[in-house]
Amino acid sequence: MNGSDTIIGIDLGTTNSLVCVFTASGPELIPNALGSFMTPSAVGLADDGSMLIGQAAKDRLVTHPQLTTARFKRYMGTDHEARLGKKSWRAEELSALILRSLKEDAEAHLGHPVNRAIISVPAYFNDVQRKATMAAARIAGLNVERLVNEPTAAALAYGLQDRDAETTFLVVDLGGGTFDVSILEMFSGVMEVRASSGDAFLGGEDFTDAALKHLAQQADINVEKLEPEAYSRLRSVVDKMKHRLTETHQANANFSHKKSDYQLSLTREMFEEITAPLTKRIRLPIQRAISDAGLKADQIDRILMVGGATRMDCVRSLITRLFKRFPEHDLNPDHVVALGAGVQAGLAARHEALDDLVMTDVAPFTLGYEVAVEVKTDTFEFGHFAPLIERNTVVPVSRSHTVNPLKKGQDRIELKIYQGEAPFVKDNVKIGELQVHIPPNKKDLELVDVRFTYDTSGILEVVAKSISTGKESRVVIEGNPGSMTQDEVENRLKALEGLKIHPREQQENTAFLARLATLYEGLLGDERQLVARFIQEFEAALHSQDAKLIAECRKELEDPVSRLESQDVF
Ligand code: ADP
Ligand code: MG
Repeated sequence: MNGSDTIIGIDLGTTNSLVCVFTASGPELIPNALGSFMTPSAVGLADDGSMLIGQAAKDRLVTHPQLTTARFKRYMGTDHEARLGKKSWRAEELSALILRSLKEDAEAHLGHPVNRAIISVPAYFNDVQRKATMAAARIAGLNVERLVNEPTAAALAYGLQDRDAETTFLVVDLGGGTFDVSILEMFSGVMEVRASSGDAFLGGEDFTDAALKHLAQQADINVEKLEPEAYSRLRSVVDKMKHRLTETHQANANFSHKKSDYQLSLTREMFEEITAPLTKRIRLPIQRAISDAGLKADQIDRILMVGGATRMDCVRSLITRLFKRFPEHDLNPDHVVALGAGVQAGLAARHEALDDLVMTDVAPFTLGYEVAVEVKTDTFEFGHFAPLIERNTVVPVSRSHTVNPLKKGQDRIELKIYQGEAPFVKDNVKIGELQVHIPPNKKDLELVDVRFTYDTSGILEVVAKSISTGKESRVVIEGNPGSMTQDEVENRLKALEGLKIHPREQQENTAFLARLATLYEGLLGDERQLVARFIQEFEAALHSQDAKLIAECRKELEDPVSRLESQDVF
């Protein structure tokens, strides 16, 4: 394969993002400049005004909350902007910075330019959110071959191990900010999504928030009164405790603020109790996915756990109780989606190792149009939703309905197109409209054929045809409310080109300095003085501009620094 034909697979997560490439020995994750497979989905401004991406930005969430932003995937496809210093940023732009950083990591690893990608998105992402993801990729200089649903990617990563089996999968993906459930079927090398469901506002971060609220109450810390810096620091202490609880039954930590020293302590039982309202929300989407697929729980062959938050004991035991068996977690839950995106990239590049594996996809939401219902003779109630392509229909798909005018003398039919699951259009998302002219005065005879065609890349074509005249109106739904136009993308692309981005080799140093600063904030007394000395030492090394000396200094400090970092949890 020619180098420039390489397609990379990207898991663009709410919390962490990863990049993968398909090789002769299967999907292979690519490390970032810091040697890690996981790049935190965080963006920030450095003191000198240049951009920080990934770990360095995440570390500064604690010390510089006004100059750092994360969790922006929640705002994909909306007009919401995050403020960083003087400038406001759309979620597409912030995502583009992450994507560009992953693209550069892949290029450094492969030794040649890369400009094609497969990107995974949550299964319930609507059309607007999918388009926003594609726009982000364009801004980052990547052509999206296709988007793949995250749970589909996960099953693809697992499914490869046993290609000839006939298997029904349930994929449970609890990430930082999103919850995804899917039912997939693999039959003689064909993978089909049968159903998907989820909760856009449920993730591991909510468990951290719940623990924080409880611990602050216990310790009598007034969270409202904490400065952003102190709040972020408390949150990261609590987050570490949450992680510890997946291994031990109790986690303790220390939080110092102003002149007070707070002891925090949480048992696994207490954690389960305070997060019970969140854990409860996991059940419904699972039930809905299973019933949408027309299955019963005992017809599921394999249950796959995906996303960092499925490590939590309360989540695993809930699934075990529901299905009366243990879920699988052979693959690292943090890596699964990226590995699957890598497999999909291999498929798109027609990699020979994947010759027999084909796959299909489903429409993630119902598509339809507005109709009026006759409540009594000649009295119509508008606003009803008529579904035409139902959620979880295998795509590509084309379906049609016949509609007729309501009144005598009507010379056109206006079609308003919506997506969503609600019976009234006001509760769904309007994605387009269309007008078709008809000969007036023939109320009962005039008919219009409405056809929806939906393809695998998420583009909907709607055609309305007057049957008597043969006249057609057509709309291709791409530019949606809340998504960026081509011009806007071009403009943002230009703006991004002028940005000063920290070079890859500097990332390691910036990240290390940020770690030292975080440590300094969290410690007191002698230990704080010790960290101050480390900072001086490291800054002196940086001043020398001698790469070898800097690396040596970093190496020397690594041990004492990581020892100090791990001791707030005892
Ligand atoms: P996303 O898909 O949103 O990027 P990830 O799959 O990377 O998210 O999961 C991130 C979430 O997993 C975070 O909320 C993080 O706190 C949580 N997480 C990761 N490891 C653990 C662990 N050992 N115990 C508890 N939660 C964890
Ligand atoms: Mg994820």
